[in-house]
Amino acid sequence: MAGSYDTRTLVYDTAIIGGGPAGSTAAARLAQRGHRVLLLEKEQFPRFHIGESLLPCTMPLFEELGVAAELTRFLPKHAAEFVTADGALSRRYAFADGIVPGPTSAYEVDRAEFDSVLLNNAARSGAEVRQGVEVTKLSFDRADRVEIDLRGGDQVAARMVIDASGQGSLIASRRGLREMDHGLKNFAVFSHFEGARRAQGRREGDISVVLVPEGWWWVIPLRNDRTSVGLVGPARKLAGRKPDAAYFEERIANTPYLRERLANARRVAPVRTISDYSYVSRSFAGDRWLLVGDAAAFIDPVFSTGVHLGTSGAFRAADAVDRALARGDLGRGAFREYERWLRRTVGTYRDFVHGWYQPEFAEVMMHPSDRLELRQAVTSLLAGHGTEQFGVAWRIFVFRAVTRANKRWALTPRLAGRRDSTALEG
Ligand code: FAD
Repeated sequence: MAGSYDTRTLVYDTAIIGGGPAGSTAAARLAQRGHRVLLLEKEQFPRFHIGESLLPCTMPLFEELGVAAELTRFLPKHAAEFVTADGALSRRYAFADGIVPGPTSAYEVDRAEFDSVLLNNAARSGAEVRQGVEVTKLSFDRADRVEIDLRGGDQVAARMVIDASGQGSLIASRRGLREMDHGLKNFAVFSHFEGARRAQGRREGDISVVLVPEGWWWVIPLRNDRTSVGLVGPARKLAGRKPDAAYFEERIANTPYLRERLANARRVAPVRTISDYSYVSRSFAGDRWLLVGDAAAFIDPVFSTGVHLGTSGAFRAADAVDRALARGDLGRGAFREYERWLRRTVGTYRDFVHGWYQPEFAEVMMHPSDRLELRQAVTSLLAGHGTEQFGVAWRIFVFRAVTRANKRWALTPRLAGRRDSTALEG
């Protein structure tokens, strides 16, 4: 399809800004429905990106997109494990134990390669994909199209724009729509290792989340003996320190569980730092525009929800745009249902993440009750079943009530000492 139009006069049905998981998914889906789609990506793929642990709930979407077979090259992930800094206490949430039937595994992926699979699929599905092209400005002055300025002076036009530009969130930041979550102002510092100790068999791909006074670590085994290791914590815990390579190495040395897993490992990538400040856009759509993925909202990475929210949101967004294009009405009203769904889903995970940064919440996570199938419901939430299922929603409500009560009544053993929990308060 690419190259068969005169792009100076062509008005695309939809232009998509950004070729990450959200943008590529929306592009593929709309192109598969026969729309003329232009995807503009400022980088050349493959490019590095953080966010390597996927959720089971996303797997059927990859099937529908037609990329499931290409993903089998990655390391299967069957569970998430939470473990104390001394390694003495751990709790494994195996996705097979969830109360919602469905896929019980996902993958741990190298994002450069994974994102390329999705972007190539968008092109194969019929979207025109242009890499190394940065969108610099959008203008909504014309009634029938959005005019899109590209770095270098070119301009293109589309009836509809989907902003999938990730944390840069082009539209939301230009319009002042981003509401920063001051309760989740975190830093992240991370790198890759080779030779790290890992479990064998079905447990090899488990993500480990390690509780430490300064926040939590992820340990994500990837294929080819690579392991992604990163620390996330409230920026205030840095107490003036820079989260640089020296800090990273020092905190590993201070964490017995990591020391042991990385004893024979060597670092094979630079230490990178991101300040991951959570935010939500006040609107997710307007006349002729719509936000997906991180461009709409970014929640803390602790429950690995980013790619799932991006791709599942992109499915819903693309379906809404498909219907709106067919009706010829691209006003905001056409996207209300999408906005409602996204706000509800983001709200559920945000509340759970806020809980996570309270020590008493983590204590309940380490000692979950099987009563009322609360542990099983949390497992389903960790698999990506947000608010869709009533059976999950009410149990999560009860689980949150238990974590709040635990603050007052110590319903579960305290973790202080294993993870200096008082350090996380206030
Ligand atoms: P992105 O993947 O960021 O893609 C946006 C694309 O837009 C980029 O390729 C960018 O180059 C392009 N772009 C930006 N501006 C422009 C422009 N003006 N013109 C053209 N192109 C543009 N998620 C998980 O699911 N699992 C995890 O384990 C996980 N861990 C994380 C750890 C950390 C520390 C952080 C910060 C995030 C983590 N995430 C994780 C979140 C995950 O990385 C994101 O949610 C996910 O990448 C969002 O996808 P997206 O397509 O919305 O945006």
